[in-house]
Amino acid sequence: MSNKVASAKASRKDNAREEIYRFAELADRCIANSVDANRFAAKIWRRALKHKIKLGLMGRRICRSCHAWLFFGKNARVRVRTGKVVITCLSCGHIRRVRLR
Ligand SMILES: [Zn+2]
Repeated sequence: MSNKVASAKASRKDNAREEIYRFAELADRCIANSVDANRFAAKIWRRALKHKIKLGLMGRRICRSCHAWLFFGKNARVRVRTGKVVITCLSCGHIRRVRLR
């Protein structure tokens, strides 16, 4: 891959990453379970898949099943089990278990 192509790819990814952070901020200002919040979550999800961007901890804020933006304590239940964090989406009931370390 030439340098030109590589830098074009890097800036495309950077732009998408910036967009994702902006959408996350906007989603956080919405009301839990609102159409707006979930629309931002869908936008984040689509960009992450398309540009192969890792969401890190932000990935836990989006339901893997219905792509709702999760507000812990409002439309998502968070429980700590032995060695795991269990995040339940209260809109669709999808359960996600994250290993603690
Ligand atoms: Zn869900």
